[in-house]
Amino acid sequence: MRVIVIGAGIGGLALAQALRSVPLRVLLAHGLDDAIRWGSEYVGHETHPDGTVTATFADGSADHGDLLVGADGATSRVATALAGRPTSSPVGIGGIAGRSPLTPEIRALLPDLLRIGSILAVGPGGTSIFITLQDTVPGPALDPALCVDVPAFPEPPVVYWGVNVALDRLPNARKMGAEAAVRAAGDLLRGWSPVVRKIVSGADPSSVGTFQYHTCDPDAHLTPWPSGTVTALGDAVHAMPPTGGRAAATAIRDADLLATHLADAAKGLTTIPLAVHEYERGPAAYAADAVRVSLKPIVWQRRLANPALGQLVRVATAIASPLTAAFR
Ligand SMILES: Cc1cc2nc3c(=O)[nH]c(=O)nc-3n(C[C@H](O)[C@H](O)[C@H](O)COP(=O)(O)OP(=O)(O)OC[C@H]3O[C@@H](n4cnc5c(N)ncnc54)[C@H](O)[C@@H]3O)c2cc1C
Repeated sequence: MRVIVIGAGIGGLALAQALRSVPLRVLLAHGLDDAIRWGSEYVGHETHPDGTVTATFADGSADHGDLLVGADGATSRVATALAGRPTSSPVGIGGIAGRSPLTPEIRALLPDLLRIGSILAVGPGGTSIFITLQDTVPGPALDPALCVDVPAFPEPPVVYWGVNVALDRLPNARKMGAEAAVRAAGDLLRGWSPVVRKIVSGADPSSVGTFQYHTCDPDAHLTPWPSGTVTALGDAVHAMPPTGGRAAATAIRDADLLATHLADAAKGLTTIPLAVHEYERGPAAYAADAVRVSLKPIVWQRRLANPALGQLVRVATAIASPLTAAFR
């Protein structure tokens, strides 16, 4: 069976790994060099009477297979072609994200909360910051027994951060270079804890980028097309802001589910369209809830962007929130 996966992001790589029975916990791109064609921009596809499908690319090339999977993210062309409309829309919030080296100095300043998990702190003006660690000190996040070909730590210890804000406060986001973006993030965090500001100002410029969040409508049918030999997964089907910490995991769940059903098709236990149909029932059952959870912090960000409500909540949060306290 030949499966064409459009998009080498989280979901696309997870599907490619799962089809090869490599544990998802190993680094997603490892060992896929022969399967990934970098720089090939999908522009369209055609299905044929014999059930096969041909994908065409911007450079004029084409690829022929038994199944085409659009893992091409929130603005997916594959899913848009299938649904006849975009499957997501911008939420009006985005921002600046990057990685900063986890130096001994930064490590000593971090609150204990960050050692338990990630933090999303929402502050005045509807600005929020997401912070998470990739730290070697507590031990590997991956089981070293699984890391026979790849290191358990793919990169030195870092702090990942993302400053989120209503995009009308970042009108030039798309044109910003990395250094301007770090400065803009610092401006947005004026008045925040010096620890947060220090983390952001120490960013590795090559890791910094701007982005905007999209969401699907969690109350709509997520795969509104007849099941066949073209489908989609991940953000292409159920875009959601990362504010619930569920977006990537849901893409990986899709990839695992689709690969499981395709394995049955490969054994002759079912057909590809039936396998796709079974897969498409999955996101319908679990993704809408993840989208709703992920949209809740966005609602709070919008409320806090309202100056009157923002002032009220600022006082209440300063008294009550352990997240605010963590960085005081
Ligand atoms: C700053 C930021 C922080 C995030 N943090 C988290 C987090 O902490 N937790 C979490 O769960 N989620 C997080 N997310 C969301 C998470 O990254 C996505 O949900 C996840 O990457 C979706 O995977 P995907 O494979 O569906 O799409 P993507 O990972 O977006 O991959 C899509 C791929 O398709 C490619 N592509 C697009 N169009 C075409 C085309 N026409 N032809 C060929 N290729 C194409 C793109 O270049 C990309 O490589 C974050 C997102 C951002 C922006």
